[in-house]
Amino acid sequence: MESYYGPDFSSLAREDPDVARLLVEELARQRGGLQLIASENYTSPAVLAAMGSTLTNKYAEGYPGRRYYGGCEVVDRAELLAIERAKRLFGAEHANVQPHSGASANLAAYAALVRPGDTVLAMALEHGGHLTHGSRLNFSGRWFDVVSYGVRRDTELLDYDEVRDLALRHAPKMIICGATAYPRPIDFAAFRGIADEVGAWLLADVAHTMGLVAGGVAPSPVPYADAVTFTTHKTLRGPRGGAILCTEEVARRIDRAVFPFVQGGPMMHVVAAKAVAFGEAARPEFAEYAERVVANARTLTATLEAAGMRPVTGGTDTHLAVFDLRDLGVDGATAERRCAEAGVTLNRSVIPYDPGSPSRTSGIRLGTPCVTSQGMGPDEMEEIGSIVAQAVRNPNAVASLITRVKALVSAHPAYGDAPTAVGDD
Ligand code: PLP
Repeated sequence: MESYYGPDFSSLAREDPDVARLLVEELARQRGGLQLIASENYTSPAVLAAMGSTLTNKYAEGYPGRRYYGGCEVVDRAELLAIERAKRLFGAEHANVQPHSGASANLAAYAALVRPGDTVLAMALEHGGHLTHGSRLNFSGRWFDVVSYGVRRDTELLDYDEVRDLALRHAPKMIICGATAYPRPIDFAAFRGIADEVGAWLLADVAHTMGLVAGGVAPSPVPYADAVTFTTHKTLRGPRGGAILCTEEVARRIDRAVFPFVQGGPMMHVVAAKAVAFGEAARPEFAEYAERVVANARTLTATLEAAGMRPVTGGTDTHLAVFDLRDLGVDGATAERRCAEAGVTLNRSVIPYDPGSPSRTSGIRLGTPCVTSQGMGPDEMEEIGSIVAQAVRNPNAVASLITRVKALVSAHPAYGDAPTAVGDD
């Protein structure tokens, strides 16, 4: 029996009702409010089914046709399917679909292309980069000499002249482009030019936007970067995991970095689910979905801007936007809490040149992948914008806002036909 809790939820409910109840409660949470975390999405039942499958039982260290375990003939085919679909979808020469996550994919890319102590040029975390782009708390900042570039103070856009100056001054072995909280397209050709000028590898980390690339609404780094890392669970709407695309030139290094350097056996159930997600992302409906994600982000951003929340860079061309709340006199943590009380999940975020701190940021970040997967469109974005703006400004409005959130999510339920209690399945 298939359900949204796994292929045989009734046996889980029988064997371990404590865990079963948690699955039910978490789905109720996901369905009961608005999920505006930019890095989240609702996977399809087909992806869930592959993830909840007996492929989890199989050890398959190595690569198709070159495993360290017997009995891999079937999972070999699953991995080859994922590899071929990823290559076709993104026009890549080589794909590695084994990374367990975006961070593992990045660790493998560093391991393949640079050595500890080498200089790496990457976007500053405070300006929208990721922990793995040089944070002192992460392997990247601990083991590499990371020089950071940022965005301009006046436009809040990437400053390619600064990137070039820093590259010429520091001669990095690798340049990383890609971000966690940057709402505008990245000029991958410009990064390629700079990397070529200083003889550096170019790594594009498009963890966030790869679904938009698949849908044809964001620029692809594949023609420009030596390696491209991404997650499969954000805009791409697949299982939690990572993947790497690269040129033939570095393919062997990348494969050896993923296994045996960084990881052991791959999660074959997740690899199969990645194949499902790549298949789904190749369909015309997915391109329409990606277009609606961006259109929704623009409408939501315009609505919030009209309500006094300043969008960083003045707007968005992607699935996410970052807002500066200083004019409202509310910090990001307070805004996050007030929205949560109204049934809206989003996260605090630093803004470029933030005078606050990582725990008391001046901004919030929100995104539209989840609400778009629920089938919401421009009217709902205006309603969500109005709800978020009121929640942020007025803590006393919570009760009426909860009613409005419930109206939206019951008109557009996530996983519309999922059972709501253990035993309903
Ligand atoms: N790289 C970027 C740009 C990201 O935004 C993220 C996640 O937010 C990651 C890497 C890490 O992905 P994961 O959480 O799957 O390790």
